[in-house]
Amino acid sequence: MNHTVLTGDRPTGPLHLGHYFGTLANRVRLQELHRMYVLVADYQVITDRDVPGRIQHNITELLLDYLAIGLDPAKATIFQHSAVPELNQLLLPFLSLVSVAELKRNPTVKDEIAHSSQSAVSGLMFTYPVHQAADILFCKGTLVPVGKDQLPHVEVTRLVARRFNERYAPVFPLPEAMMGSAPLLKGLDGGKMSKSRGNAIALKATADETAAVIRAARTDADRHITYDPERRPEVANLLTLAGLCLGRAPEEIAEEIGDGGAARLKRLLTEAVNEFLHPMRKLRSSLDAADAREVLTAGNARARERAVLTLEEVRQAMGF
Ligand code: ATP
Ligand code: MG
Repeated sequence: MNHTVLTGDRPTGPLHLGHYFGTLANRVRLQELHRMYVLVADYQVITDRDVPGRIQHNITELLLDYLAIGLDPAKATIFQHSAVPELNQLLLPFLSLVSVAELKRNPTVKDEIAHSSQSAVSGLMFTYPVHQAADILFCKGTLVPVGKDQLPHVEVTRLVARRFNERYAPVFPLPEAMMGSAPLLKGLDGGKMSKSRGNAIALKATADETAAVIRAARTDADRHITYDPERRPEVANLLTLAGLCLGRAPEEIAEEIGDGGAARLKRLLTEAVNEFLHPMRKLRSSLDAADAREVLTAGNARARERAVLTLEEVRQAMGF
């Protein structure tokens, strides 16, 4: 089947290994076979903070990360929310299709509120999953490669699409989520690896920075290394990361380390991560901000053409 694929990231900081194994690897694979849209979700930066911060800088860095991992702007349309007004306009009719109770039930939103540093929760925090429905449906996306935290949002999109089709006319497909080899990679503090939580291994970090964050990771007092996610989550997480980078089973790596202890595990992990990321880091160092700008200019224009068509269809269906 030929899919239209949509995914994206908030420009809130450098992409990390959670992104890579959660969604980026799938994107690189899917761009070869399907129509692909990749969204720089700039308007969603302000869901959990008061101001967008160093937004231009973060957007440039995100684009360089994309290019470094192998997203190809000739195959994928890479664009940003703030450049496609017609996409954002879909939010209004879509909001009318969901209830406040449904918005309040979203488990990912609840988790993000718990980790937000804002004193008050904004209306955007509760409604951004519907904005995400606009992201996916403006291009009639059918496949969404995401991490596990996004599954409730893909459900919201399906709900919006189903209700729109029932109330007005059959305009939208019902998209499916696709998860990667690590749907929920944990960070070095045991919580979800996140750009905004200071617990991530950034794709673009130097070898020394990578060594430093891994050295600081928490482990436990037992010197004999075993893979036991239930009772030894910290050690298991480091083994999982090493396994993903080496393409090996974490149990096997644990056995090999045995009595070598956490120090040996961290050394092995550092080497595995640095070797795995080396080609991406090398490619990234040959790119600059002008390359990033060029990608967005072309992608924004293409995305906008698509959004104009969908918004017109929505207006027609609703009788405006
Ligand atoms: P922030 O903390 O700013 O929200 P983030 O690390 O959660 O940043 P997002 O931009 O919100 O990153 O998410 C982009 C994509 O990466 C989503 O599809 C999300 O599911 C996926 N993703 C993010 N973190 C992980 C993770 N730890 N494991 C697997 N997938 C992840
Ligand atoms: Mg997030």
